[in-house]
Amino acid sequence: MKKREQIILSPEEIPYYWYNVKADLPFQLDPILHPGTNQPARPEELKPIFPDGLIEQEFTLQREIPIPEEIRNEYAIYRPTPLVHATGLEEYLETPAKIYFKNESQNPSGSHKVNTALAQAFFNMKEGIEKLVTETGAGQWGSALSYAGKKFHLAVEVYMVRVSYLLKPARQQMMHLFGAEVYPSPSERTEHGRAILEKDPNCNGSLGMAITDAVEVAVKSQNTKYALGSVLDHVLLHQTIIGQEVKKQLKMMNIKPDILIACVGGGSNFGGFVLPFIPDRLKDPQLEIVASEPEACPSLMKGEYRYDFGDTGHLTPLLKMCTLGSDFLPPPIHAGGLRYHGASPIVSRLVTEKLVRPDDLTQEEILQAAQIFSLTEGIIPAPESAHAIASAIKEAKKCKENRESKTIVFNLSGHGLLDLASYDHISKINGKGL
Ligand SMILES: *Cc1c(COP(=O)(O)O)cnc(C)c1O
Repeated sequence: MKKREQIILSPEEIPYYWYNVKADLPFQLDPILHPGTNQPARPEELKPIFPDGLIEQEFTLQREIPIPEEIRNEYAIYRPTPLVHATGLEEYLETPAKIYFKNESQNPSGSHKVNTALAQAFFNMKEGIEKLVTETGAGQWGSALSYAGKKFHLAVEVYMVRVSYLLKPARQQMMHLFGAEVYPSPSERTEHGRAILEKDPNCNGSLGMAITDAVEVAVKSQNTKYALGSVLDHVLLHQTIIGQEVKKQLKMMNIKPDILIACVGGGSNFGGFVLPFIPDRLKDPQLEIVASEPEACPSLMKGEYRYDFGDTGHLTPLLKMCTLGSDFLPPPIHAGGLRYHGASPIVSRLVTEKLVRPDDLTQEEILQAAQIFSLTEGIIPAPESAHAIASAIKEAKKCKENRESKTIVFNLSGHGLLDLASYDHISKINGKGL
């Protein structure tokens, strides 16, 4: 096997600011709309759900937003994260392509989500908020926010999509370990949830429903705000520390990427990974940027680009995005984190501007990619991240056919150690995979 290479930065290289791509885009994004008036939402209209610090970040056009020292110190527990030369995967594929991955799986919650969870908990704490309410799909966001809440002395209440609540007890246990309360959604605890359960007592739930449950609880409680783990501009903003580190790491090695790949659920790990490269992409159309999503929930490839609600109960502001419709119920595919009807407005616009190309993947492709990656690189990937791996494998195979030595860099958004039951389930349906 070829020599392993990990490109590791020192703690001083953790970025000092979050990068706001809106300062550099050659077009203006459509504003978010107030659900009652259908007019552009004013910052103060978001106050019932978000703290001022985050609302400001949602609207600002300032390029660099300084990261408070308290948050940087928390990042230092698990950052900077390594960029790994995937020599095992390259050899297995016998490809002339060079493949690198950014490893966001080695942290307390096992995914990139803790990057924004810490930032959101901090800004809420600073404004005297005592409790955060949120939704979670597969459980990664819930566990990240539970951890971050504890760090900044906030109580956390999580509404978990019922099908995941039943299938992923380990994620619930992790949230309990971090001190959070967890309830299945649709929930008996909300008006919205009770109305759904009355019609369909065994409803699997969806992210859209869990968001409505969480927003309803947050709006009705004192000193409590809501937190969203993806989609919104401020969430992508916090994640840009990923791409900034990758840029430094590539530069240190004198490597120019040809293809950047990340998976998209709501778009936060994708945005965090690629947005710092958008100025490069605007100068160099050769730089390919690929967004991997499940064929079963293809918001970027098949969704309509229009205003839609972020939730099923229509409590959230309207966002202009690629959407399958806020009442879309995705099949219970096992990449729970990718079962969302919409996608980040920034990522959606980059797709419609053809700066980003979507790639849809089947469950067989995902399982196979996960098995290959586990055996060649020694990390069991999250099913979500396996989408990015599957796209990277596709590109590496193209390079082999065309005898091209491109450099492919993808984001490993999380590990799959708590998703083994899902993998087992897919293997049983699809046979052995490898
Ligand atoms: C939540 C999650 C995703 C999908 O969310 P994005 O906001 O699109 O990044 C992807 N990978 C992992 C590991 C996740 O936990």
